Amino acid sequence: MIELKHITKIFRQEGRETKALDDVSILVPKGKIVGVIGESGAGKSTLIRTVNLLERPTLGEVFVDGQNLISMSDSQLAKARRDIGMIFQHFNLLSSRTVFENIALPLELDKTPKDEIRRRVEELLLLVGLEGKSDDYPSKLSGGQKQRVAIARTLATNPKVLLCDEATSALDPATTRSILALLKDINSQLNITILLITHEMNVVKEICDEVAVISGGQLIEQGSVADIFSHP
Ligand code: ADP
Ligand code: ADP
Repeated sequence: MIELKHITKIFRQEGRETKALDDVSILVPKGKIVGVIGESGAGKSTLIRTVNLLERPTLGEVFVDGQNLISMSDSQLAKARRDIGMIFQHFNLLSSRTVFENIALPLELDKTPKDEIRRRVEELLLLVGLEGKSDDYPSKLSGGQKQRVAIARTLATNPKVLLCDEATSALDPATTRSILALLKDINSQLNITILLITHEMNVVKEICDEVAVISGGQLIEQGSVADIFSHP
């Protein structure tokens, strides 16, 4: 479960203030997929980045799996962040590492034994449909394949929640559908709670249980996909 309570974020820069988020509250129930949609500059990136405190809110509280992240010490936060996976528009793979080595990275950082890493990476390659791509470098892969590697990498450490920051925005429509289908599988098979942000209506219609609409830093509407899209 992810719960953002009364989040306000003010950026201060060279004497100017931007209120990127204004009292936004969002609940993502355990095992659900919630999408946040809004125009460019609406505050979507800032919002999703508050969930793992990449952005610390000016006001408000952040709960992940019942734990309040705001009041945590640095070491507690580092531990809590291991339960929070994140994928990005531009995949953020390391180009000097193979598919295997990219997926293995978080496990190496955890000092997981080598044979355990091999077993886990093979399992993940199967899960995301990249069997046989283990030794390829990212430059050889399509955009959809790169995102599959990024998904495998973030799942390596068994996160409870997954944040998707415009995860399909760099992909063509057919590839977008296949990545959304994969996210839906992950959600239902692994019971991973998903919060995603997008500027694309089709993405939320395709996989979200609920949708929140933000504009100018404010929550405009929140409800089931059917409710939100049933009226003009
Ligand atoms: P979206 O993801 O919906 O496009 P953002 O969350 O990126 O929106 O931005 C919301 C607002 O906050 C915008 O006005 C943006 O310029 C501003 N903003 C975002 N990050 C920063 C920052 N680090 N410093 C100052 N302003 C920022
Ligand atoms: P996106 O919305 O696709 O994430 P942006 O171009 O809005 O990308 O933001 C990219 C990065 O720049 C983010 O880290 C964001 O916090 C920062 N940023 C966005 N707007 C501003 C701004 N007005 N001033 C400073 N940094 C900003």
